[in-house]
Amino acid sequence: MTDVNVVIIGGGAMGCSLLYHLAKAGWRDIVLVEKNDLTHGSTWHAAGLCTHFAHNPTIQELRATSVRLYRDILPEETGESCGFHRSGAMRVTRNPDRMDEFRHVAGLSEFTGYPLEIIGPERIAELHPLATLDGLLGGIYEPHDGHVDPSLATNAMAKVAQRHGAVIQRYTPVLAIRHENGRWVVETKTGVLRALHIVNAAGTWGFEVGRMMGVNVPSVPVLHQYLVTDTVPAIAARQKAGAAELPIIRDPEESWYCRQERDGFILGPYEKQAQVWSVDGVPPDFGAELMPPDLDRVEHIIEAAMARVPALGTAGIKTVVNGPITFTPDANPLIGPAHGVPNAWLLTGSSMGVMEGGGAGKFLAHWMTHGAPPMDALAVDSRRFGTWADRDYRVTKAIECFGLQFGVHYPFEERPAGRNIRVSALHELMKQRGAVMGAAHGAERPNWFSARPDDENRDSFRRTNWFDAVAREVDAVTNRVALADLSVFSKFDVTGPDTLRFLDALGANVPPKPGRIGLTHALTPAGGVASEFTVTVFAPDRAYLNSAAVAEEMDLDLLNARAKGFDVTIRNRTDEVSVIGLMGPRAPDVLARLTGGEPPGGFPWLSAREMAVAGIPARVLRVSYVGEPGFELHVERQGAEALFLAAEKAGAPFGIGHYGAYAANSMRLEKGYRAWGMDLTTERSPLETGLGFLVKPEGRNFIGREAMLKRSPNWDMVLLEIETDGEVEPFYAHTLFARGRPVGVVTSGAYGHRVGKSLALAFLREPKIRDGLSVKLLGRERPARILATPPYDPQNTKLKA
Ligand SMILES: Cc1cc2nc3c(=O)[nH]c(=O)nc-3n(C[C@H](O)[C@H](O)[C@H](O)COP(=O)(O)OP(=O)(O)OC[C@H]3O[C@@H](n4cnc5c(N)ncnc54)[C@H](O)[C@@H]3O)c2cc1C
Repeated sequence: MTDVNVVIIGGGAMGCSLLYHLAKAGWRDIVLVEKNDLTHGSTWHAAGLCTHFAHNPTIQELRATSVRLYRDILPEETGESCGFHRSGAMRVTRNPDRMDEFRHVAGLSEFTGYPLEIIGPERIAELHPLATLDGLLGGIYEPHDGHVDPSLATNAMAKVAQRHGAVIQRYTPVLAIRHENGRWVVETKTGVLRALHIVNAAGTWGFEVGRMMGVNVPSVPVLHQYLVTDTVPAIAARQKAGAAELPIIRDPEESWYCRQERDGFILGPYEKQAQVWSVDGVPPDFGAELMPPDLDRVEHIIEAAMARVPALGTAGIKTVVNGPITFTPDANPLIGPAHGVPNAWLLTGSSMGVMEGGGAGKFLAHWMTHGAPPMDALAVDSRRFGTWADRDYRVTKAIECFGLQFGVHYPFEERPAGRNIRVSALHELMKQRGAVMGAAHGAERPNWFSARPDDENRDSFRRTNWFDAVAREVDAVTNRVALADLSVFSKFDVTGPDTLRFLDALGANVPPKPGRIGLTHALTPAGGVASEFTVTVFAPDRAYLNSAAVAEEMDLDLLNARAKGFDVTIRNRTDEVSVIGLMGPRAPDVLARLTGGEPPGGFPWLSAREMAVAGIPARVLRVSYVGEPGFELHVERQGAEALFLAAEKAGAPFGIGHYGAYAANSMRLEKGYRAWGMDLTTERSPLETGLGFLVKPEGRNFIGREAMLKRSPNWDMVLLEIETDGEVEPFYAHTLFARGRPVGVVTSGAYGHRVGKSLALAFLREPKIRDGLSVKLLGRERPARILATPPYDPQNTKLKA
């Protein structure tokens, strides 16, 4: 048995990148085990495309980091090229919504510093003279994109890692893994390794290796093909004339990519009906092999590509590459700690593992070294799917993602596959009331309420079919009273004699007194916001914590890790407890009717009681995210429907209505309330997020305290009023400018119906800037003004009434 610090399983682009970055960060005793030779999974046969196009700053950074590594850093370190061709790339379209998407991504790129250019047909012709322009509205040009030789890049990372002392064991399949006495024991064909950390970078085999680790890895292999042509005369002629390489071209509507390969083309189609492969177990002896070509499946896409690039039809097919590619339920990779097991990490599930690999390895190396990711990790965090992501879910979502590889990513997009797998006790009732549902962390929740049966979201980058419905819901909450199904929250019970001491050490705020409710932010070691908990203390040995739906596994890990040394028990109650929101000025009257009492004057804001409501035992929290007086009724699942119906009956004389997540989002922005996962992330501290009033560092000790206090405020979160055209409302990832200079980014936004303003929360990276601001909404600059106080009820008079 050999003792080491880290074992990485898998020698593809992802595993070798982690090995490289850990070794360069000074980690010692790191071993990468690979069952074949390096790259002999999916990496060797990838088409090597590298892009900067992404809807999320973190994903864009992963991709940009890979390009820098393959293009500049590795060649300098090894003295050898990784075969990176800076060809540039473009996406072209006939679809007006797609142009909106391009404008949105181009806008974000001004903030991230990887500028992309919106182009019209003339520029397309100039950049890609072999493309036809029929029907094209325009496109987006990605000047720093290109393609790399995946094997050269991966081997270069391995070589440099070895130079820094890392060890690579080739032809060493891992056969079994167990956790024993605080160490991971990894049995391989050639011996046993004992390690503190273990990393699953097994790509196509990620699920199988996950099973050995005791972890559910929600990824599925799907077959993807590309074809390589013989010599294309037009390209040969261009080469002879000394013309530059053609840019990569993608037509997302027709679902293909095409790049120049020597004097021919590579064409990669993505069919709508994906073919999953070996879902129940990739054969252990499967290695670098390819599947036989299956061009019938993609013939129609090849024809469409030939219509756009007729030169494709002037050459025969030299080779077809048909191999497995992994898809997670949202097509983003799985990076970070594995849920529920110590010192186990995932670096797998990438369907773009070459363009993301270089950056993903760096990202995870930072996380392992510093205990926190370098940027907001929500889009890639390996714990964003729970055990509810079962086989059917994984498969149906992988098929959907593959088919939508080139789908338009709308804001507020709700995809149809894998739905109704986690439903609240109120699900059927909500649908009967006209709820148009969305999914949060696999759980169904009402987004808005429609008068029309079976209505659905009409996807758009502009105001769409739910705008007026949300206005009506806001009106009911503001002027009368309304009910909501808030059951998607994560919910945890904390019990034991050390409850208060544990809560005091948990986050930046002190725990509330028994009977009261508080808000605390658990920090990363670097002082960023790891979690946001609403904390209700019922007794010195009994508390109840609520947090965001998608944080369930992350928060459970965090609570369990931080509970060490305290005599407390943490219990996840998420699936057992339902939550009913009862909000609005008449909410106290409705509660009085349900409890047979007077309107509860002695039930002040931010207090909580355990009491019978309509005869049903409930935890009643006087708390509101919408800026009106109200209560959250937390009840055991089996009592939820009866309580909801009783509340509707009691509220009928007051004109009780219903509201969904979109109305809540609009109302919380009017109050300037931050949302975890959007506005609150590991990247920024609570002080940088404008939450100083919830930070109580004096005389206390909690993780991240010193780091938070030490870091100079690099960011400042501001609430903005934006002058829109009444058509495009702000949402996440829009760049904020000061006199034309990019100075910040919008993290969330909506129209505030009560105040008649378009609102957004945004981070300024130059905290002192106060005026001359504008936000670019789909390519148009709109004046923006910082609001000194929230525009709705800034003194909380209504809230406390
Ligand atoms: C046709 C095609 C074209 C593609 N084109 C592109 C592209 O242009 N750009 C892009 O970014 N991506 C592309 N991809 C996707 C890309 O190939 C993968 O995302 C990427 O290679 C994944 O890298 P990885 O390191 O995660 O996995 P892999 O390369 O599969 O590496 C995993 C390694 O783990 C090893 N392993 C597994 N189980 C064990 C075990 N029990 N013990 C020891 N070792 C084990 C395997 O042998 C393998 O070498 C393409 C994929 C296909 C199929």
